[in-house]
Amino acid sequence: MSERINVPDIFGSLVFNDEVMRKRLPKDTYEQLNKHIEERKPLTFEIAQEVATVMKSWAVEKGATHFTHWFQPMTGITAEKHDSFIKPVGEGKIIMNFSGNELIHSEPDASSFPSGGLRATFEARGYTAWDPTSYAFIKDNTLCIPSIFCSYGGQVLDKKTPLLRSLQALNKQAMRVLNALGNPYGATSVNAYVGGEQEYFLIDRDLYNEREDLRLTGRTLFGANPPKGQEMEDHYFGTIKPRVKEFMNDLDIELWKLGIYANTEHNEVAPAQHELAPIFCDVNTATDQNQLTMEIMKIVAIRHNLACLIHEKPFAGVNGSGKHNNWSISTNNGVNILDPGKDPAENKIFLLFLAAVVKATDEYQDLIRASVASPTNDLRLGGNEAPPAIVSLYLGEELTGIVDAIVSGEHFEGVEKKVMKSGVKVIPRFDKDTSDRNRTSPFAFTGNKFELRMVGSSASLSTPNVVLNTIVAEELSLFADKLEKMVDTDGAMNKLIEDSFKEHNRIIFNGNNYSDEWAREAEKRGLSNLKTTADAMSAYLDDKNVELFEKHKIYNREELEARYEITLENYCKSLHIEAVTMLEMAKKDITPAVCEYMGTLANTVATKKSVDKSLSCKLESSLLEKLSKNSDKLYETSMKLAEDVVKAEDFTDITKKADFYRDTISSDMEELRRCADILESNTAKDYWPFPTYTDLLYSVV
Ligand code: ADP
Ligand code: MG
Repeated sequence: MSERINVPDIFGSLVFNDEVMRKRLPKDTYEQLNKHIEERKPLTFEIAQEVATVMKSWAVEKGATHFTHWFQPMTGITAEKHDSFIKPVGEGKIIMNFSGNELIHSEPDASSFPSGGLRATFEARGYTAWDPTSYAFIKDNTLCIPSIFCSYGGQVLDKKTPLLRSLQALNKQAMRVLNALGNPYGATSVNAYVGGEQEYFLIDRDLYNEREDLRLTGRTLFGANPPKGQEMEDHYFGTIKPRVKEFMNDLDIELWKLGIYANTEHNEVAPAQHELAPIFCDVNTATDQNQLTMEIMKIVAIRHNLACLIHEKPFAGVNGSGKHNNWSISTNNGVNILDPGKDPAENKIFLLFLAAVVKATDEYQDLIRASVASPTNDLRLGGNEAPPAIVSLYLGEELTGIVDAIVSGEHFEGVEKKVMKSGVKVIPRFDKDTSDRNRTSPFAFTGNKFELRMVGSSASLSTPNVVLNTIVAEELSLFADKLEKMVDTDGAMNKLIEDSFKEHNRIIFNGNNYSDEWAREAEKRGLSNLKTTADAMSAYLDDKNVELFEKHKIYNREELEARYEITLENYCKSLHIEAVTMLEMAKKDITPAVCEYMGTLANTVATKKSVDKSLSCKLESSLLEKLSKNSDKLYETSMKLAEDVVKAEDFTDITKKADFYRDTISSDMEELRRCADILESNTAKDYWPFPTYTDLLYSVV
């Protein structure tokens, strides 16, 4: 088990990365490929053909037998269809072959992917096309080629295409602003970078297999509170259990081979909850790598007889899981534009980009909310463990001081660096950060990046970054429109900064986002509070947002309508599956178990009375009464839920259907769970048909 691993040797060993290309491609081809990527121009067929040949030889040497276009349809998970490299050459023989055409595009029979009406089933054609800006890699003896996916008519059907488009928009508008200011950094392009911290739960696989809800929906639909939850706060950063450590070691190795910068690992707040943070990289790669990370986590867990739960809320009553999206913008020559430097008050370019983020967050708060909307994330947002559904921005003491000074027209005094004193002489002293952290904020400035904490643990990183890139590109484009016309760019820049902070100050909030006071205060400030996916998604149809996406060529109206429809369809389907799973578990598992236990209690009473009529049966009788009453309720609430599930199917309008699921089905489900959890608390353990919360949360040692 503990054989020594040479990390630099294995790192990226399954990736067709820059080093491999430089070594293996003809020099001229390598240079041309890079030039095309750098200038974002389409590749010629000749280059693709040469790359394909070299890619295939490399992959075959590594043991690959198949290839696939690896893409991200709107299901949110990745899709692949494997083709082998074999090509018959007569006499019953084959050669291993891979052509430029096969590298560039493929035509999966794609009518079964969600398209939101963009592609009628009789027009099944969809194309995947190679994305040369994300490295190909080998997984399960298959060469995976990161690809985009679109319909015959060119409409986007995936999560990668809009992300790449949004990066183009951000690059264009950021460069316009920098150029209007004389391009002080000497940049030729700008890109966005992301580090996505991934939270997850690990539980024993045998126990997982015993729970239909976990297997079918990824979360527990029933489960009484365990005697011990997370109240002792003893899990966060706690010692990692040996079995979990072995899983993490194994996971690191698999991820490193795939060139994923898996870096930080620790226990999270809830029992059985953990986190993995990679080192940040460009958003396109980070998004692909996060998809892979989630997949590999689940596979490695199986090897250790564990189940890795990536669901946002696997257990009621303890924290759910998120994915912190740490986002920054840098130039191609390595300047992080969101780094305030030593003297932020004087760093005007930083302040201008900060102003763009502040303005964008305020004007498009509804879109940010919609970008993280999913039925699973609805269970987490606003639950006093994750940020609320209200979008606000945390800037910290120093930046808020600067913004306030700019708004009031006063001079900013500056925040002095303070030395950290521990009270122990032998401990070295060091400078403290100029502001503390705020863990409750949905969108926080954290030193040289913004951390969007509303993203759900199972979500693709794509959508929130499409929105961040686009809304900031929009503000930068408006700034550029003004700056390009001005001779006195310094004056114009100061005015833009001042106006943005003055007009959009309401979005900045440094206090406790979990408090009820904030919800009231936010309402006074006119900030939106869209609690569920059913409420949030209409942002995609709002004229102002459609105009935004059309202006920057990210989505057209039709594509937005499709996304609206797919998300709400998914919302209804997810709740439908949960409701039906609950009904089945209530009927086939809980009811027989409780009846059996009630039978035992009734028999005990009868037997005792037959021995001696005067014997007290208080305990048995009162338990029996409680169980009887609640099993009646379980029956009634099941009937109601079953009827409502049928009613839900009658809706033809997706918006109305989603509203019905949100208002009626969700509350039926809550009621059913309440009855079942009372029954669980009052039924003998041997009779209860599935593992309890204590079993599940404390199963891994
Ligand atoms: P935490 O939020 O857990 O305290 P850090 O703030 O150190 O942790 O980093 C969290 C994540 O942010 C990591 O994935 C890290 O690589 C990423 N990160 C750090 N700097 C940047 C940056 N400039 N742009 C994007 N992500 C970054
Ligand atoms: Mg974080």
